[in-house]
Amino acid sequence: MTKILTKHFDEPKLHELETYRRLGGYEALKKALGMERKALQEEVVKSNLRGLGGAGFPVGFKWSTVPPEDKVPGPRYVVVNCDESEPGCFKDRVLVTRAPHQLLEGLLIASYVVGSKDSFIFIRGEYQNQYDILEKAVAEAKAAGLLGDVNIHLMRGAGAYISGLDTALLETMEGKKAWPRQPPPFPTVAGLMGKPTVVNNVETLSMLPFIVREGGEAFAKIGSAKNGGTVLFSISGHVEKEGVYEVPMGTKLRDVLALAGGVKGGKKLKAVIPGGTSMPPLLEKDLDVALDFDAIKAAGTMLGAGGMIVLDETVDAVEVAHNIERFLTHESCGQCTPCREGSNWSERILERMLEGKGEKGDTENLARVGENITGKVICALGDTVGMVTRAWTSKFPDDFKKRVPNNG
Ligand code: SF4
Repeated sequence: MTKILTKHFDEPKLHELETYRRLGGYEALKKALGMERKALQEEVVKSNLRGLGGAGFPVGFKWSTVPPEDKVPGPRYVVVNCDESEPGCFKDRVLVTRAPHQLLEGLLIASYVVGSKDSFIFIRGEYQNQYDILEKAVAEAKAAGLLGDVNIHLMRGAGAYISGLDTALLETMEGKKAWPRQPPPFPTVAGLMGKPTVVNNVETLSMLPFIVREGGEAFAKIGSAKNGGTVLFSISGHVEKEGVYEVPMGTKLRDVLALAGGVKGGKKLKAVIPGGTSMPPLLEKDLDVALDFDAIKAAGTMLGAGGMIVLDETVDAVEVAHNIERFLTHESCGQCTPCREGSNWSERILERMLEGKGEKGDTENLARVGENITGKVICALGDTVGMVTRAWTSKFPDDFKKRVPNNG
């Protein structure tokens, strides 16, 4: 299978500048700096690169919404989102560990296009090792004169799920609580310190050296319609070989599972959470779904941040839903009442079901709580609370029925 980001992962010292350069690293940056910024942006548009942090927004289009310097003078910023806090997601950690210079090269290309002289890497606080690796890589690149006139700043997060959301991330960078902002304005217009800011995640920016080197069309050809290139999945749960796998966009779920050795111990598959715990699960009948942002949406779920969790037949859907709701309750920032209260109620209903104290109508109660949150909150976390209960109760009604004594 075609590999872009993990192509050289067998090289033992890929994280070092010398190795990365021996393999052609930073040649794309050199090429980019010799091109017009507009032409580079058009290559990214042509590539059909989508934001791989979860939203799947077309990257070239996102960049085009940064106002031109003659209209909005002053600084503009690029921020790398390396917060990666959703359970099941660990691909960015692997990318930073193994290929920090690939990210830096992508960040420098993006900084040139956007006109950022101060660019930031916002990294999850728990990623101490990855922070150290990046710090060393930035120092190496600086000493080699590769940063040009761009300052790269490393900033550590406090490990909150919500700070992975771009507007909350910007709030924390400004020294405030990680409370998402209500757009508009969107960050590309008024982001960090009110200045135009592009926020992209590690995987997205790491794709840029390939796009610059090979051209946008070559990248687009690798993936499926409107979903260019490859995508990484961090696969965990009941599979034979947990790990990070890179496949072309649009690869079937069946083939991705096969790469990870299939369901552990030859058991039957119960569900696959495709993109991190907040995504509705896919079932055995969905194995031929193509994994890209558009096809998976048509199948009723989302690619998210590629954190695939595989669950075998022994798993209880009520336990899974409870686990996820407990997490969301813990991570809700509390800013919107429907999310703050509703996540807690969902968790408590599921908890009493697990304790064998489920009451008649509990499944309907979960749906009602979800409906009272969805669309009435600032950010996607609140919507997720309702989406999770809706997905698990509708796909596994028998598991929920069993938890309500005398419910029939
Ligand atoms: S939906 Fe939840 S997490 Fe998002 S801003 Fe509102 S309270 Fe915070």
